[in-house]
Amino acid sequence: MIIVQFIFGAIIGSFLSVCIYRIPISKGLHLDSEEDLAEPAKKAEPEEKISIAYPRRSFCPHCKAQLSWYHNIPILSWLVLRGKCAFCKAPISARYPVVELMTALVSVMTFQSFGMNPTGAVIFIFCAALIVISFIDYDYYIIPNVISLPGTVIALVLAGINQFYSIFKFPIVSGLKDAGLGILAGAGFLLFISEVYLRLRKKEGLGMGDVKLLAMTGALFGLEGSLYTIFIGSFLGSILGVLLVLCSGRKMSQQLPFGPYLALGTFAYIFAGSDFIFRLIQMATRQ
Ligand SMILES: [Zn+2]
Repeated sequence: MIIVQFIFGAIIGSFLSVCIYRIPISKGLHLDSEEDLAEPAKKAEPEEKISIAYPRRSFCPHCKAQLSWYHNIPILSWLVLRGKCAFCKAPISARYPVVELMTALVSVMTFQSFGMNPTGAVIFIFCAALIVISFIDYDYYIIPNVISLPGTVIALVLAGINQFYSIFKFPIVSGLKDAGLGILAGAGFLLFISEVYLRLRKKEGLGMGDVKLLAMTGALFGLEGSLYTIFIGSFLGSILGVLLVLCSGRKMSQQLPFGPYLALGTFAYIFAGSDFIFRLIQMATRQ
């Protein structure tokens, strides 16, 4: 069963890579080069109407050659081709197998922890959305509305269903009241911080994308989930953010993407739950 869940995750991961690559391009955002991911994004003309559905087949971004099915096998193809395009030998970013492997592991973790049931399915889809959001935010400093807004609406619908039929188990919200509180606490808190920062520093420190991401998280995981996400997300963001500045040469004054840390915070909530915070506090107070 674990092998099936791993393969399923790797295949979905391969689709997520497509989303990560194509969603920003279809919005007219553009990176200077595939390798130079630390550079902030520049606006450009939408590239040859690339969208999630078009072109149907995967292609090499360098020589535009269409890939065959055996170039598209998650993780394995990249290893067999040793990270180079089969046609032009241009390097293929290691991100592709990394995203596929991450998604495969998330798939195994999700279905092993929550079972192959509606709860597991919703959590897996949500985690997949978080993976896409994290990589796009890291590259372009945006969190696409095309994920967070429908995500929030769907989460509210699920909360509504749960209110009457209790189909989805913990950590998914039990009803609309908790979902509403989650949105208010999560998105509301970030909105407040962003407003305060704007007033004090006269520039934007926290994007509206983060606020909408927390609306989605709050709607699905309620008050506890959204507070947990903000707490762990800020904690990780301050530690890893400084490391990122030191290692990648991003400037401190430069905007840092907050989305990936919020995503990690939510992962921690989903898989470690409240126990994790208690253990952290215990560790901190023992010294
Ligand atoms: Zn190529």
